[in-house]
Amino acid sequence: MAIGIAKRAKAIKPSPTLAMAAKAKAMKAQGIDVVDFGVGEPDFDTPENVKQAGIKAIQTGFTKYTPAGGTDELKDAVIEKFKRDNGLAYEKSQVLISCGAKHSLYNIAEAIFDAGDEVIIPSPYWVSYPDQVLLNDATPVIVETTEQEGFRISAAKLEKAVTAKTKAIVLNSPSNPTGLAYDRKTLEEIAAVAVKHKIYVISDEIYEKLVYDGFKHYSIASLGPEIKDLTIVVNGVSKSHAMTGWRIGYAAGPKDVITAMANIQSQSTSNPTSISQKASVEALRGPQDFLAGMNAEFDKRRTYMVERLNRMPGVSCIKPVGAFYAFPNVSKLYGKTAAGRTIRNSSDMAAYLLEEAKVALVSGDSFGADAYIRLSYATSLENITKGLDRIEAAVKNLK
Ligand SMILES: *Cc1c(COP(=O)(O)O)cnc(C)c1O
Repeated sequence: MAIGIAKRAKAIKPSPTLAMAAKAKAMKAQGIDVVDFGVGEPDFDTPENVKQAGIKAIQTGFTKYTPAGGTDELKDAVIEKFKRDNGLAYEKSQVLISCGAKHSLYNIAEAIFDAGDEVIIPSPYWVSYPDQVLLNDATPVIVETTEQEGFRISAAKLEKAVTAKTKAIVLNSPSNPTGLAYDRKTLEEIAAVAVKHKIYVISDEIYEKLVYDGFKHYSIASLGPEIKDLTIVVNGVSKSHAMTGWRIGYAAGPKDVITAMANIQSQSTSNPTSISQKASVEALRGPQDFLAGMNAEFDKRRTYMVERLNRMPGVSCIKPVGAFYAFPNVSKLYGKTAAGRTIRNSSDMAAYLLEEAKVALVSGDSFGADAYIRLSYATSLENITKGLDRIEAAVKNLK
């Protein structure tokens, strides 16, 4: 046999959001003043008490291997969090600590997908879901949801997409990229379909804590014992505690799935960083007042950004209730021309805005929704004002 790259590795592409970040960074390094709306992480610093817990871990020599699936101390803190925030009871054997929520999601994919399995992914979706399915030889089944539906898959649409091969559905609420979220009633209806057909629900709740306008987040796993037995909940400290670089996420679910994930992790990465685990215990158990301050700031930026986007000709944007992204529809501008180029789709739009307006953002096609672009408001109000001024001018130039 010839040498070469495996089929599954050839089937995937690098994360487009990380690629966009790299391009904007390269332009900045050349001295170009780029306003960056591409970022997928809070612009706030990790809270001081959490940093101190990490420093203390180093100073007291907590710098060796821990159990591969995470320390008992952090698992206990995660169990307390699920009880307190979601009314969910788990045992330690049902919890796994990983190197970020993305790693938790990947472990799930490896643990439950076989070749031939179908995995339902509502679009717009977070960029990594389809590729993680492909990396495990299964088939992503993309089900489009619309703005009019609040970007929520209905039970009826889900029911239609289910086949004998369906293994799981991936839910993400609040959502990256749309910023919208599932209400309790829709979750109950989806749960009924999942229970009826016995399909797993992979519930990515990483933005649980970043909600506005009094929105109440429910974990689908909390809606009854039957759906709990089918759901793997994924969460982490990256977004809630501005800890993206620390790389700690976690999953909770049926014991057999968690055991398989733990075995995979023990043969691949081993434990998440010991120091980060100590810091995450403090993040989950320590004072939570950091969050109110961060959310109040995000809320201000959200309102400002969405109002301004809606005032631009050809642009419309629903107001998000969670996360830190605006996801405006810009398809009315497709077919228009400026600076000698015609904007045909979301990637043309992203390229136009980067090169002509010096604003970095992510095209909707990366999320399976070509009518849209994604702007992160995890940057200062000053930057947001400057970036939106530039976008407005660029949009008005389109004829
Ligand atoms: C940021 C993000 C993650 C990954 O978070 P990490 O814990 O840093 O790996 C997972 N899902 C969604 C939807 C995200 O936006």
